[in-house]
Amino acid sequence: MSMQRPMVEVRGARKSFGAAEVLKGIDLSVDRGQIVAVIGPSGSGKSTLLRSINHLEALDSGEVWLDGMQVNQPLHGQAFERHINKVRQQMGMVFQHFNLFPHLTVLDNITMGPVILKGMSKSEAHALAHGLLSKVGLADKIDAYPSRLSGGQKQRVAIARALAMQPKVMLFDEATSALDPELVDEVNAVMKKLAAEHMTMLIVTHEMRFAGEVADRVLFMDGGVVVEEGPPSEMFRAPQKERTRTFLKKYL
Ligand code: ADP
Ligand code: MG
Repeated sequence: MSMQRPMVEVRGARKSFGAAEVLKGIDLSVDRGQIVAVIGPSGSGKSTLLRSINHLEALDSGEVWLDGMQVNQPLHGQAFERHINKVRQQMGMVFQHFNLFPHLTVLDNITMGPVILKGMSKSEAHALAHGLLSKVGLADKIDAYPSRLSGGQKQRVAIARALAMQPKVMLFDEATSALDPELVDEVNAVMKKLAAEHMTMLIVTHEMRFAGEVADRVLFMDGGVVVEEGPPSEMFRAPQKERTRTFLKKYL
């Protein structure tokens, strides 16, 4: 048992949209360097959970913590804005749909955050972008505009852009599900590389094989609750709950 505080911790998260309760008391803990995959049927609350972690959604009740700092603090107005902007700088998020700025080159997409939010010099940010693009295999695309890139390339730039802020955790919400099948592996390979470097990651995915390869722990959500969690070797080979078995049968 590690006594280290978790990198990400969610306690008793509840969230409703109108009359529909989408998160019904979620507890989640991700240790430093750990990789947790979140699986579950469409509509089970996976995206809402991820979005709650960086406060794109405000929880009705419960707590979110990042490296010992409470994310959903009871602050108001500008004080909360300052707080949440600082928090978000420490979390990289990659969505299903590449949200690169179309009017900016790859270089500017990546350097914008560090230059504007962190006051990094342009030359330092350029060197950083070049290093990150090499890591994701796209150094030759540094001056390209997003419209000239494939979906897989855009998603790799999106990952590089998130990494440029040197986040404490990376959140992936179905980063590959909008991609043509032949482009999925190049994005997964980047995520595996990050895993090998012990980046803390929370990955929502429908790809069970990838989850099995990359995750230390898999968490199965259904109907706004965590039904079951455990290492992939146990979850995929011998799920304990009927709901988990029924879900996994469709994939394995
Ligand atoms: P998942 O990512 O597992 O598919 P979501 O978290 O996106 O699930 O959605 C869970 C439920 O919450 C769904 O029924 C969805 O329609 C609903 N929902 C999500 N976001 C909103 C929103 N902003 N307003 C209303 N309902 C929402
Ligand atoms: Mg979703």
